[in-house]
Amino acid sequence: MSKSTKFIFVTGGVTSSLGKGIISASLAKLLQSRGYSVTIQKLDPYINIDPGTLNPYEHGECYVTDDGAETDLDLGHYERFLNIPTSQANNITTGRIYKNVIEKERRGDYLGKTVQVIPHITNEIKDRIQELAKNQDFDLIITEIGGTVGDIESLPYIEAVRQMMWEYENDCLVIHLTLIPYLSAAGELKTKPTQHSVKALLELGVQPDILCCRTEHPLDLEIRKKIARFTNVSINAVIEAKDASSIYDVPILMQAEELDVVVLDKLGLSKRNPPKLDNWKNFLDRLKNPKCEINIALVGKYVELKDSYKSISEAIIHAGVVNNAKIKVHWIQSDNISTGKARDFLQSMQGILVAPGFGSRGISGKIEAIRYAREQKIPFLGICLGMQCAVIEYARNVLGLTDAHTTEIDPDTTHPVISMMEEQKKVSNFGGTMRLGAYACQLKPGTRIAAAYQVDQITERHRHRYEFNNEYLNSFKEAGLIATGKNSESGLVEAIEIKEHPWFVGVQFHPEYKSTVDQPHPLFCAFIHAALTHSQL
Ligand code: GLN
Repeated sequence: MSKSTKFIFVTGGVTSSLGKGIISASLAKLLQSRGYSVTIQKLDPYINIDPGTLNPYEHGECYVTDDGAETDLDLGHYERFLNIPTSQANNITTGRIYKNVIEKERRGDYLGKTVQVIPHITNEIKDRIQELAKNQDFDLIITEIGGTVGDIESLPYIEAVRQMMWEYENDCLVIHLTLIPYLSAAGELKTKPTQHSVKALLELGVQPDILCCRTEHPLDLEIRKKIARFTNVSINAVIEAKDASSIYDVPILMQAEELDVVVLDKLGLSKRNPPKLDNWKNFLDRLKNPKCEINIALVGKYVELKDSYKSISEAIIHAGVVNNAKIKVHWIQSDNISTGKARDFLQSMQGILVAPGFGSRGISGKIEAIRYAREQKIPFLGICLGMQCAVIEYARNVLGLTDAHTTEIDPDTTHPVISMMEEQKKVSNFGGTMRLGAYACQLKPGTRIAAAYQVDQITERHRHRYEFNNEYLNSFKEAGLIATGKNSESGLVEAIEIKEHPWFVGVQFHPEYKSTVDQPHPLFCAFIHAALTHSQL
């Protein structure tokens, strides 16, 4: 472990969904922009080994890292804000902690000792926190503890924090994110839930150093004094975290509250240069002053929970900024699109994106949406299952292979245009066994996708079991749908497009995971650009 690494823990109180991930990412951004190297880690108190086996309705999107970890969607925020990749070590769950401890016990590593929550589970948690410091030389590691203080399942994590505060006294700091509700009947902001939540932390032996107070209204001096008095937190460390219209405002709001200054002072670190946030502010300025508005359909099966497509919707925002356009995203439930009815949902759209997914629900609606985009020459981007459906649609309606399908849904189809990858056939477990993480892809020069990336060799992240069936490659090519990206090692088709269409691109990988504020994703930018061009026809 680098001797000087500092640890910042972020806990949450009163209620979930206060935005610990965004506060952590915003603080990290401010520290990074002062020249510190920072990473963020999420500890999730559930027993799944990773969120890969969770339905998106449970926990939102599963975010995939370069090294193929299936992780919490907060890691997407960390990458979008910091523009540095995260890895497996940035997301740990209770399931993984217990699995490691049980494996060690089976190996006999504990030399006959009784294996207990304290010290074995808490040591494992501390090791996972410090592992990040060992592998890379970070000045600061921000560790976000999932859940809410008082939850039974987060107790070992809070205990691990308590021990680290004791062991590395001058190198640790705790930020507690809490809620100051406004009672309209009383016309007042209320501090009591925060007092209780800090008490709950104190009972576990942890005194927070900083409180970030989510609020709908500004916190005046009196209320800040009151919070400080009841919680043993200095008044300048009572930080107002007012609701923002965009998550990208939060670093600027935190800078105004001097959250970074308080953190550096408390950790005895130099304030160095003031944060350089020119690029970020320029992004915000363009986000808030678009020159036009366009409509993009996001067709998927989990659209009731927008977190299921978090990285896609953020990548669309980034690409909108690059094109100076406000993007109105229309969330369309694919199950609702019945045969021949796509026009009712899609006629006012300038671009159609068909989302990734698993299983049969909503497939026929996706195929209908794709047929509409193809026939009406509306810019189309298909991601993973969205690309696979584009291949099926073309096979059925252009090649005339009426029962063409993916073997994921119809294992007995006579035309398996999408079929299971060879390496997947021997896999029996569900968790962590897909084709995951970054793979290289060679782009065909002169295609739309090559024009978007402006290079011919790219690396993108994957999460799938099925693939384009190369036996049909020539039939598709003759009929006008070409493979535009391939993995040169395996020969797997990674991208397709239709020649006779203004902009129709399908990708087997997930470009959305790599779009950041500093580097909006070229494929999304090109898609939005094509949609803008379409809107001007
Ligand atoms: N279900 C498809 C597969 O496993 C697509 C996966 C996805 O869209 N992420 O290949």
